Amino acid sequence: MPQRRFVVQRHRASSDHYDLRFEVDGVLASWAVPKGPTLDPDVRRSAFRVPDHPLEYLLFEGVIPQGQYGAGDVVVWDTGTWEPHGGDDPAAALRAGSLHADVSGEKLRGRLVLVRQGKGTGGDDDRERWLLLHKHDELAVPGWDPADHPLSVLSGRSSDQVRADPDRLWLSDVPASEACVELRPPEVSAAELEALEEIADRGTWEVFGRRVAVTNLGKELFPGRGGEPPVTKRDLLRYTALVAPTLVPYLRGRALNMHRYPEGAACQGFWHKEVPRHAPDWLTRWDNPDADEGETRTYAVVDDPAALVWAANFGALEWHAWTSRTDRPDLPTYALVDIDPGERTTWDDVLLLARLHRDALDHLGVLGRPKVTGRRGIQVWVPIERGPTFEDTRAWVERLSRTIGAAVDDLGLVSWKWQVSQRGGLARLDYTQNAVNKTLVAPYSPRASAGAPVSLPIEWAELDDPDLRPDRWTVRTAVQRLRDLGDLFRPVLDSPQRLPPLA
Ligand code: MN
Repeated sequence: MPQRRFVVQRHRASSDHYDLRFEVDGVLASWAVPKGPTLDPDVRRSAFRVPDHPLEYLLFEGVIPQGQYGAGDVVVWDTGTWEPHGGDDPAAALRAGSLHADVSGEKLRGRLVLVRQGKGTGGDDDRERWLLLHKHDELAVPGWDPADHPLSVLSGRSSDQVRADPDRLWLSDVPASEACVELRPPEVSAAELEALEEIADRGTWEVFGRRVAVTNLGKELFPGRGGEPPVTKRDLLRYTALVAPTLVPYLRGRALNMHRYPEGAACQGFWHKEVPRHAPDWLTRWDNPDADEGETRTYAVVDDPAALVWAANFGALEWHAWTSRTDRPDLPTYALVDIDPGERTTWDDVLLLARLHRDALDHLGVLGRPKVTGRRGIQVWVPIERGPTFEDTRAWVERLSRTIGAAVDDLGLVSWKWQVSQRGGLARLDYTQNAVNKTLVAPYSPRASAGAPVSLPIEWAELDDPDLRPDRWTVRTAVQRLRDLGDLFRPVLDSPQRLPPLA
């Protein structure tokens, strides 16, 4: 009999409480304990039975996004093994309403007793109410208070630290096997990078635990820029592997539209959406149930860093993921503002419009994150709770941008005419990208231009940096910036919001 595990997670959600969970018959039998378990044998705690949790949740520590069941932060406050006392059928003990558990954790030790008292207080709260206490045994500690021992036994971090900078997310609205999203997945190793250098022109690269067939490694895919040498396919694959762990959370669970340039950025590119037949078996695929005759049916889904390496080798120089997830392709998770200069507008005009959007979002109390596109413009991504349709987000962004455009006109700040449209010849504020299967380039994606510029997240304050340019960073410089500053786009992953009505 393998040892049974238990965990106590401090969970700051709509209420601040501790979740006590015992592994019983392949699930985690669970109680919410508002004041937390204690070693003090003279204290009785109320505990409320909550639904069994999947074993995948056992050591989850991180953040549950807004709008999802249990939204808040979670730390592994204690964990270890346990044994039922007085019988070897804990499921039967639970049905009978009395569980004696000998626990061996880092904080909790000795015998805990859970006794069912009955239903809750009525009203909305019909959870079973139990009593939790620690036996008067040699491991009891009178006066012991869980609030004096707040740190995670996994990471040593406080709940505030985990909330501010979580390692992972738990998505309560997807199956448990997919619910945990690593925000710091394993990086590509030095040995893996060296193995790429050792492949002559084609071969199999073992990377991220997968075998990826790589071809034409010496091919010049991007012409050089400003006297730099051209960027080869080997350079592109190296960059892809270095950024893929950061990028995958933005692509996971979403269909990928690949912009392919098989002959390199200097030649014609085209959209490639259908997964080719020779793609590896391990590549995740998604069949779009809404695809009409002649439309793409089967898309690639990058939920594994090796999948992005495969796509890059396939000639996808640009990576554009859907703004909805495949389980609800009709519901976006971001609203998008695309500030793209037209023929007669300047970079300064783009910066002005970006600042005005920043101020408007600030004023509305809405979080948006900016990035340069790697070509000419700036985009702002606004994470939202699922619910509004594309029509809703399109209308919201249109209204926001028209208001800003009108203000620009009123103030006479610029001499050019702004235009809110998809095809304006002048500066465009393009709200039409808020549509199903219309995509914007993903953060960290290269662009098919000389020098291999990259679409990179920026801080709002960088709008005032005189050296900022939309194509400032390339595959040669973006990795160091990512190392120095971390992933500036991360808030769009874990800050879903309700868009406030606009007057
Ligand atoms: Mn909880």
